[in-house]
Amino acid sequence: MSRFFSGKYKELVPYTPGEQPKDFKYVKLNTNESPFPPSDRAENLATEAGKKLELYSDPECRALRQKLADYYGVDYDETIVTNGSDEVLNFAFMAFCDTDHPAVFPDITYGFYPVFAELNGVPYCEIPLRKDFTVNVDDYIGIKKTIFIANPNAPTGIALPVSEIRKILESNPDNIVVIDEAYVDFGGESCIPLIHEFDNLLVTQTFSKSRSMAGARLGFGIGSKAIIADLHTIRYSTNPYNVNSMTLAAGLGMLEDDEYVRSNCKTIIENRTYTTNELKKLGFEMPESTANFIFAKHKTVGGKMIYQKLREKGVLVRHFDKPKLVEYNRITIGSLEQMKFLIEKLEEILEEVQ
Ligand code: PMP
Repeated sequence: MSRFFSGKYKELVPYTPGEQPKDFKYVKLNTNESPFPPSDRAENLATEAGKKLELYSDPECRALRQKLADYYGVDYDETIVTNGSDEVLNFAFMAFCDTDHPAVFPDITYGFYPVFAELNGVPYCEIPLRKDFTVNVDDYIGIKKTIFIANPNAPTGIALPVSEIRKILESNPDNIVVIDEAYVDFGGESCIPLIHEFDNLLVTQTFSKSRSMAGARLGFGIGSKAIIADLHTIRYSTNPYNVNSMTLAAGLGMLEDDEYVRSNCKTIIENRTYTTNELKKLGFEMPESTANFIFAKHKTVGGKMIYQKLREKGVLVRHFDKPKLVEYNRITIGSLEQMKFLIEKLEEILEEVQ
């Protein structure tokens, strides 16, 4: 730390992203990326856009926002696009949280929420999940705080029914409820249709998972016009050109190639079923996942040991060194070939250690 670093950030513990190793070609199942490339159309549009990089990107992100609005059946003014959904989430902390509106989220959820709260000097509290990792909706009824819920949740993969989220929205009419739907396309139910009923709802999604664009950084938010206007005030006060032209173009391409996206999601869901069944045969336990990952622990072998041994054998999964999570590993669902390789390596490990 330099002696110039602002005192307000001295205690800040930054988010630790999953590893992106360059030294060795791992079967990479640690950051919930898609095993499928973006569509040809997305790639071609991005290449075209790459020929005009002397110009700023469109600060209104008009074409993409209109396409998103048409796709999700909302108005143009009910959309915002950002540099990954991390950015719209940070904007939400900036816009809708302060000492009068502290943030609240489950104790086991996306690890960036507490970092955003700390970064923005926002008080926050973490509500413990039930023992089975489910959210107890009663904990959020009339809580009068700005609520952040990842649905499906990460790293558990467990989805909350929209009917339950509705109860949270109804009982907190004067507070924003942010539903982070990064993984919704793998079998979850979206809250986007509720935005016309609840003016306190903000839904965020990403192109990083189902739409194969993690490296391009594209996320979006959908909510009432007033909420979106507030987020645009923050956006124009930080970086009006937050989404670059190649990413905007690729995003359009992926929305146009929706059949490709749907078919990839279907494959991931099939591979998830295959992997779940195989893992159970090997003695693993896991909550039912509605995401493109599985959160699994073995009945007898420790989580850290499995993580390390898999790594030695060329498979990277995500291990969290936190008390309630330490026995688990979060395993991204990849191609069938990758999943078969994973199972083969786990069989070897179990034979070695048991
Ligand atoms: N929300 C959740 C629950 C996530 O797991 C992630 C991915 N790390 C994000 C949001 C952010 O993803 P991105 O910034 O790539 O859109």
